[in-house]
Amino acid sequence: MAHHLRGSSGTAARPAPEVLASFEAATGFMPVDEGVAVYAAAVEAATRTGLPLLEIGSYCGRSTILLAAAAREAGTVALTVDHHRGSEEQQPSWEYHDSTLVDPEVGRMDTLPRFRRTLHAAGLEDHVIALVGRSPQVAAVWGAPVGLVFIDGGHTDEHATADYEGWVPHLAAGGLLLIHDVFPDPADGGQAPYRVWLRALAEGFTEVSVTGSLRVLRRSGG
Ligand code: SAH
Ligand code: MG
Repeated sequence: MAHHLRGSSGTAARPAPEVLASFEAATGFMPVDEGVAVYAAAVEAATRTGLPLLEIGSYCGRSTILLAAAAREAGTVALTVDHHRGSEEQQPSWEYHDSTLVDPEVGRMDTLPRFRRTLHAAGLEDHVIALVGRSPQVAAVWGAPVGLVFIDGGHTDEHATADYEGWVPHLAAGGLLLIHDVFPDPADGGQAPYRVWLRALAEGFTEVSVTGSLRVLRRSGG
């Protein structure tokens, strides 16, 4: 059972029913219990820091819906980074491939059109800035602090490590680091996000909550 973040009212913020319905209808990989935890963490981080929330791995906008709704709630904005060409495991003939997401003219995946429709349908377009590009390239030119970093991009060591190293320097003191697909047991999934989680703990982050494969950690200070 998940332990949740508590707001000043003593209860964790929950997504409104229509937000949750949009999330459940969206294409993507996040289960509902983890989504509810992402939303609670996002409201907490945005309220505490007053800063934008940053996601790596927009895909079709499923988890972005929750960050955008939290940003709307707290009066800030959600930033989400993706090249929209898919991760290794989403390419043709791989386990997580969805052939409806291929641009036939280009012959490659393109999740941006579905992402845009999803955020439009959820009524949350005005609360999201989509950054289309490779995460390390965007991180290298990014120049402002963020209140939350959610790592849900490429799942190789190369990509997960680059996401951590690129974006953690932009995370404000007291802000939250969320890592998805953390599997301590190799039988449950790839180990790269787990190794990033271990590194974050070794580098001074404090664990806040665990929900399924989602880990929420806080950067010290603030
Ligand atoms: N958060 C989504 C799932 C993300 S899937 C959900 O809730 O459903 C992972 C995404 O990361 C893919 O869309 C892929 O294109 C993107 N990605 C992988 N490596 C990346 C990189 N280096 N830079 C930017 N995006 C990347
Ligand atoms: Mg994931």
